[in-house]
Amino acid sequence: MTERSGSPSNSHAAVSLRGISKIFDDVTAVDNVDLDIADGEFFALLGPSGCGKTTTLRMIAGLEIPSAGSLQIFGEEVGPLPPNKRPVNTVFQNYALFPHMSVEDNVAFGLRMRKVDKAETARRVAEAISLVRMGGMEARRPAQLSGGQQQRVALARALVNRPKVLLLDEPLAALDLKLRQEMQFELKQLQREVGITFVFVTHDQEEALALSDRIGVMDGGRLLQVGTPEEMYDAPVDRFVADFIGRSNFLHGTLENSTTVCLSNGDRINVPVVDSDVIAVGDAVQVSLRPERVMVCDPHEVPEGHARLQGRVATVTFLGNSIVYHVQLDWMTVVVETDHRPDLRRRAVDDDVALWWRDDAIAVVRP
Ligand code: ATP
Repeated sequence: MTERSGSPSNSHAAVSLRGISKIFDDVTAVDNVDLDIADGEFFALLGPSGCGKTTTLRMIAGLEIPSAGSLQIFGEEVGPLPPNKRPVNTVFQNYALFPHMSVEDNVAFGLRMRKVDKAETARRVAEAISLVRMGGMEARRPAQLSGGQQQRVALARALVNRPKVLLLDEPLAALDLKLRQEMQFELKQLQREVGITFVFVTHDQEEALALSDRIGVMDGGRLLQVGTPEEMYDAPVDRFVADFIGRSNFLHGTLENSTTVCLSNGDRINVPVVDSDVIAVGDAVQVSLRPERVMVCDPHEVPEGHARLQGRVATVTFLGNSIVYHVQLDWMTVVVETDHRPDLRRRAVDDDVALWWRDDAIAVVRP
């Protein structure tokens, strides 16, 4: 089963959190988080509004002080260091550009404050502006730029300081869908070009899947699971994660042994090996079954050796490239999504059908 937390493994992590919590008055915004983010990684903190992802990012940035725990950046304890003494820069959702300054002056600002010499400043500013493809627009002010262009300037302004870690707080949220998709692609290219660690906060699961090397899903201040996009989709360990990343059916049951679940209708099914550190034998569990991983066939057609569910088609919805069936069992409804292809027989409402799946197409999750 997949890695469950962001726990230890890499002694040279770019960012390392151990037992990090943040309590505001009576709200525990971040609750005992352990996480290692590797050097050069594009890491997304994903979760719904209020889950604690921004507070986690702000603690890495030095904009909030942890209530408990240890926070290291490249092995150095940064707890007491103010933001400008950390090797990080933050790009905010609202860009936070200086409206009265040109693009060039906005990008140069940090270097001038640090009194970097003029020739070096000019060279690095030109390099950063070219990196974000804003050459030719150096003299414009933010009001004369589109949202996407302003976001590029914000990126250049952060990158010109050569941070070891770039923190991004929902940087694309203010852009419309098409531009957001273009910028996603550019952001990923940019990260490859500069090769530094990006830590990215988002509530958008598609954005997290598209951009990240690894994702950490948070809820209620806790880090529920960390893994690659494929691991998070294929092997969620928690119902919240399975539901937040993609869609799923959940069959209730009990873990009978590490590879068998007894479903609430009495059927026993084979499941991928369950890690006993994550879920113990005898625990109530749910089996996550992705709609596109369920096969529909006539009741007598289920291949030998596979678990099956018998049901009747309740609704058929044509979506162009796929067809969605709601199949009514006598104990629950299962949503199934099949490709719309001429070689696949289309089912009709009231057809008696059987549903089956490959043993490795499901995941056992905590309820
Ligand atoms: P969003 O996507 O809406 O920004 P988030 O997942 O980033 O949400 P946080 O901003 O980290 O969540 O907030 C986590 C919790 O901590 C929320 O309940 C929030 O109201 C609370 N919180 C955040 N900052 C403060 C603060 N300065 N004072 C009091 N409570 C706060």
